[in-house]
Amino acid sequence: MSISFPLADAYVFDIDGTLLVARDLVHYNAMHQAMLEAYGINTTIDGIPYHGMTDLSILRATLAREGIEDGVFEASLPKALEVVCREVDANRAKIRPQVCPGIPALLDKLSGQGRLMGVASGNLETVGRHKIETAGLRKYFAFGYYSDRCETRSGIFQNAVNHVKGELGASATTCFVGDTPADVRAAREIGAQIVAVASGTFGIEELRACGPDLCLQHCEELLR
Ligand SMILES: [Mg+2]
Repeated sequence: MSISFPLADAYVFDIDGTLLVARDLVHYNAMHQAMLEAYGINTTIDGIPYHGMTDLSILRATLAREGIEDGVFEASLPKALEVVCREVDANRAKIRPQVCPGIPALLDKLSGQGRLMGVASGNLETVGRHKIETAGLRKYFAFGYYSDRCETRSGIFQNAVNHVKGELGASATTCFVGDTPADVRAAREIGAQIVAVASGTFGIEELRACGPDLCLQHCEELLR
């Protein structure tokens, strides 16, 4: 029996753990530098369950742990985001993305079918764009939504759905592809389809328990 993707007019992919796994510390170090420069706090995102979280919510949770109050957090947030982007931009040559199994072939297949494809990521735009460009995947995607002005994943997903409807009409359907329970929840929250892949840090059983439309070990399963 062959497995097939849920049918949709557009497919929107998460980045980390879904399209690729970044085998470097560029993003991690940029978050550290941002907290140091914007808040004077020398800490790392270690201990925060950051998989599936947006960059904004990771910074908020990490700094709350260090005793930074919401008002202070908000006041210096623009500076912090600027530092994350500046650092990732400066160190982009060190980004080492490992493309997840089956991704290039799947993207080739979907683009060959004329599907609209985009990215919806909790990364800041500069960060996410550098990762997919370095991985050689930029050419597949017509649009991208990131966490720069949107702290919640469901908000980012909704922006992507609105984009699809703007391009293809109000009845156009969107299927998301993600690697975390947060991706499944966000898609459900806005009534979209979701394929969960265990190519990131979560196992297939944990993802299946969230009730995605389809659950895969990795996208290569679709190509057999
Ligand atoms: Mg992810």
